[in-house]
Formats: sequence, structure tokens, C-alpha cells
Amino acid sequence: MDYRKLPHGGEQISILGLGTSSIGMAGEKDIRATVEMALENGVNFFDMASADAAPFPVYGEAMKGCRDKAYFQIHFGADYHTGQYGWTTKLDTIKKSIDWQLSALKTDYIDFGFLHCIDEEADLDRVLDSGVLDYIQKLQAEGTVRYIGLSSHTPRLAHRVLDLGAIDLLMFSINPGYDYRHGEYAIGQPDERMALYRRCEAEGVGISVMKAFSGGQLLDAKTSPFGKALTEYQCIQYALDKPGVLTVLPGVRDRADLQRILGFLNASSEKRDYAVLGSFTPTDTVGTCVYCNHCQPCPAGLDIGLINKYYDLARAGDALAAGHYGKLEKTAGDCISCSHCDRRCPFQVKQVQLMQEIQAYFGK
Ligand code: SF4
Ligand code: SF4
Repeated sequence: MDYRKLPHGGEQISILGLGTSSIGMAGEKDIRATVEMALENGVNFFDMASADAAPFPVYGEAMKGCRDKAYFQIHFGADYHTGQYGWTTKLDTIKKSIDWQLSALKTDYIDFGFLHCIDEEADLDRVLDSGVLDYIQKLQAEGTVRYIGLSSHTPRLAHRVLDLGAIDLLMFSINPGYDYRHGEYAIGQPDERMALYRRCEAEGVGISVMKAFSGGQLLDAKTSPFGKALTEYQCIQYALDKPGVLTVLPGVRDRADLQRILGFLNASSEKRDYAVLGSFTPTDTVGTCVYCNHCQPCPAGLDIGLINKYYDLARAGDALAAGHYGKLEKTAGDCISCSHCDRRCPFQVKQVQLMQEIQAYFGK
């Protein structure tokens, strides 16, 4: 397993986590076996936005004795205290649900306390007015909640919450469909979505990724908006290449699903490569580097994707990214303008020109 560091706090989070949306139907025995298998394979991040209450007590049993090896992402606004899932902004109901979830999970603390699924301005106003964020912050001050997060599909709303300076983690739906205006949650223009990911990285807010396969739509040529199926590994790599992303949370149904997802860790770069997207990219986003590194190898040894990522982040105000660039062994100034990358890039990025621009910006 690979791990990425939570910018606020430094926790090491597994790049593959476990989504709970589909596992409830597996039955107690299989849920437990799947969670145990995840832990054995180094998965340490567990989202608990489940479709029903069934997984909670089973997760609690499976984590007995190893709670410190897992991070739970718990949603303030997902109500399970009746045994069913319900979405709510009512503080009393949220308190009951949180008490129920802590008890079912046999724990007394929450690693990440999330404002749950806020996509409308009015819902955010309601959540803030009814004191849900205050409640999470109070629990944080008492030590029950360690970090605060938001789950949303809407860049505009995510920006509003980022403006409050209150969150450490954003759960966001990232996949090539949504990023290029296809699908139920394709909210915001491509550049607006990318700007959100960059802002998160610049401000040290990590991203946990939901809906990396667009609910499975991208995996089937019949439902893929591109008319061509992508693979799970391509979608996972795509999400992991976005700035700010720490972990991707596929909603596995059982051990077989998990086994297949874990195969990503040993998959070849060809299996993870999503350059095929270059042929679907809308014309207004052609020429924008997506940091995929399909253009490698660079004869001068430049990490082209990373150099471009640092450049974009630095321009978005990320001082750390500028520092990281400064420490690179090979920088844009080492480019020999061979144009190998220009010929290879499926997204038609003019990298020779860009490297000169990047060199001028950083002075090396
Ligand atoms: S220049 Fe093209 S191929 Fe290279 S990292 Fe950027 S988008 Fe990918
Ligand atoms: S043009 Fe520059 S960055 Fe691109 S492959 Fe050649 S040396 Fe590397």
C-alpha cells in the first residue's frame, strides 16, 4: 500500500480506502471478512456514508483491538439511528445519529467529522444556522473529533466552506466524466473543478475521492459518456493525479471487489494510463496538462507531470509547491526542447513552450 500525508496533522492515509455505500447488502460475515482483508492489506481509511446502518456494528467488531489502525470518516447529517439511512440538517437528529454510530462502531472518537453531502446554498445556510459546524467544532475541542471535513459535489459550495477555514479534508466526486461535463454530478466547468483541487492542495486541505467510476457508468461502453469503457485502474490513477487528492474510496460490495481494487497497487503503468481520454477531451480543455506523465520518458530526465503540477499550484498561491519545485533535481531549465513530449501528449499540450514559460516563472 502507498500512503499520502494529511497536510494538517501528518497522518499517513492509504491511497486506496474503503467506501461503504454498497457493502451493506453483503451480510455480516462477508462485511467483516472484507474489512479484515482491507486492514490486512494496509487500507486504513474507511468512509462511513453507508446506504444503511448494517455495516456499523460489523465494522465495530472487526476493528476491535485495532481501532488505532483505522481512520473513520463519519458524516454529521447521515442519520442511521433508526436503522435506515436518512439525510438531515437537524441538529438533534444528528446528535442522536452520532451517538448511535459511535456506539455501533465501539469507539469514542471520530477521526474525520464531516458536514454531510452539502450541494445547495440553502442547505449550507441551514447547517450553519442550526449549529452543526459549531457542534463538530465543540466535539473537536473536547477531543472526540480529530479533524473536520465536508462532503459535496459542488465546487461553489466547497469554496464557501473553504472560505470559512474550517476543514481539513474535502470528500469530492472526481472522475473524467464529471470533470468533462458528463454525468449526474458534473457540476462546474472543467477549469472551475481543477481550480478547486488546486485550492485544496494550496491550502493544505486533502481530498478523499468518491464516485471515482461515476457509479460504474464509466466502466461500461454502453453507459460511458465517452462511448468507450474505462477501467477501474485508469479511473483510480486519474483521481490520484489530481492536486490535493489523498485517497480514493471505491464502494466495494465484497472481497472479490476489494481484491480487484487492490490489484491497482501492482498494476503496470500501461494498465493505469488514461491517455485515451485525450481523444474525448472537450476542445476548450485541450492543451491543459492533466499531469498524467503519458509523455514520458523525457530524454533530459524531467518529471513533466510534476513540474506542471507545481507550476499550476504555485500560480494558484501554493508557496509550498514553489518550494517543492525549487528542490527538484531537474527543472524546466533543463529542458532541451526535443519536443518528444509534444508528440506524445494526447491532450495536445505544447510542452516545449510551456517549459520556457515555467523556467521564466521560477527562474530555473
Ligand atoms: S504534457 Fe500531456 S502527456 Fe505530459 S503530463 Fe501533461 S497532459 Fe500528460
Ligand atoms: S521537450 Fe523538454 S520536457 Fe519535453 S521531452 Fe523534450 S526535454 Fe523533456
